[in-house]
Amino acid sequence: MKHSKRAVVIGASMAGLLAARALSYTFTNVIVIDRDVLPDSSVARRSVPQGKHLHGLLARGLNSLNELFPGFEDEMMAAGAARGDIQADIHWYVDGYLMKPVPSGLIGIASSRPLLELKVRERVAALPGVEIIQNCDVLDLRTTGERGRVTGVGIMSRTDGAAATTIEADLVVDAGGRGSRSPVWLEELGYQRPQETKVAMDITYSTRMYRREPQDLDGRLGTGISTYPGSPHGGFLLAVEADQFILSVGGMFGEQPPMDDEGLAAYAETLPCKDIADFLRTSTRLTEPVKTRCPASIRRHYEKLTDFPAGYLVTGDALCSFNPVYGQGMTVAALEALLLRDLLAAGPKDLARRFFHGAAKLVDTPWTIATGSDMRFPEANISISHKNRLLNRYFGRVYLAASRDSAVATVFLRVINLVDTPARLFAPGMVARVVRACFPKVSRVSETTLVGGS
Ligand SMILES: Cc1cc2nc3c(=O)[nH]c(=O)nc-3n(C[C@H](O)[C@H](O)[C@H](O)COP(=O)(O)OP(=O)(O)OC[C@H]3O[C@@H](n4cnc5c(N)ncnc54)[C@H](O)[C@@H]3O)c2cc1C
Repeated sequence: MKHSKRAVVIGASMAGLLAARALSYTFTNVIVIDRDVLPDSSVARRSVPQGKHLHGLLARGLNSLNELFPGFEDEMMAAGAARGDIQADIHWYVDGYLMKPVPSGLIGIASSRPLLELKVRERVAALPGVEIIQNCDVLDLRTTGERGRVTGVGIMSRTDGAAATTIEADLVVDAGGRGSRSPVWLEELGYQRPQETKVAMDITYSTRMYRREPQDLDGRLGTGISTYPGSPHGGFLLAVEADQFILSVGGMFGEQPPMDDEGLAAYAETLPCKDIADFLRTSTRLTEPVKTRCPASIRRHYEKLTDFPAGYLVTGDALCSFNPVYGQGMTVAALEALLLRDLLAAGPKDLARRFFHGAAKLVDTPWTIATGSDMRFPEANISISHKNRLLNRYFGRVYLAASRDSAVATVFLRVINLVDTPARLFAPGMVARVVRACFPKVSRVSETTLVGGS
């Protein structure tokens, strides 16, 4: 049932748009505000610079988008996205081991980030009662005199001569991204800032687009080569719309991927498999390289605050931003939107506490996957607990086993796509498969066996 009420969302990127969708089930009026002029085609925009880089959508993220926007996947396909089996149609080299590429039923779509955002934005803009205000800054929060409740936002259009004004709202959701002002705004209102957990990985992405020819990668949709201790650089090549590939290579802990073609070709030769190096020998580059640096994964623990204003929530990267190589941000934003939809359906009482606790549970698994892996790097300078050391050793065996036993690879990919919980990798039958597959113990890509086989 709809309340005759208004919600305001700060930010019209993925998390803001998905939150708006969630709010539209119960609020009669939802206003989304973004400082950018929002393009009506699939091009990257100023305040979402990461849009120029490769964005993979996890299988769970695709399922969630289909749930929020029925028919979404078909719409993406009609707009030129590619669909494929995540295990069979993409080669995944994890810690140097190729996950056995067989059909798994785990379906994904591949597109540029701007196309994905455009299609979500179009669906949200078409919802009754939803309005998107662009080219407009949210300046601050408006509250009741006694400070207990957020009652709206102060805004100012970026058009010449505009003056600051107020939009009143029953609920304000901050989806302002990594640079969210919520910690500052809360402090200004006399609340505590949330505690932050940071895990540094200092990753720099360098990205270019290429023409996609039918014979490239033997027709597959992509190849992803992860970083691992001793090999702090990786890369991902993915098919996108308009017969193009997007290639993002990344160096961790300050390593700078080269921007020139010659340097990139040499860099690709140092990766633990040669798919990208081979591709670069015959490919045609379509765009100039672009670079983005991402210093750390940051989790803001709003769930631990005991004093928080009513009528206010924080979601998406503003709540938790991950090392982008794990491709989790958009999927977690979609899961938070589904959580918000369900909590609102149960009623507005005590919403902030219920939302932040629910979101913290959602974030736990992807956060552990991402930071657990990053903490293995000595450069991260983090002392790892005995339990985590054991876990990392087990995962080392899982990667090797997944290069030999396709069922292990499928379960591993289902876990990192957030479709299954990590517990599946620890089920007795799975542990037995992992142990069996690890004998005899050999090698990574460079030494053996890893492509093909049964
Ligand atoms: C290099 C890189 C690669 C990535 N790759 C992947 C990937 O493969 N898969 C994946 O799922 N995720 C990936 N991510 C993460 C993904 O981009 C984000 O998780 C996703 O965009 C959701 O972020 P968001 O909407 O919370 O914030 P953002 O995308 O940062 O958007 C914030 C929005 O808020 C607006 N805004 C902020 N403050 C104000 C204000 N005061 N007034 C008005 N407007 C405001 C901004 O203009 C912007 O539009 C990657 C990130 C990076 C950096």
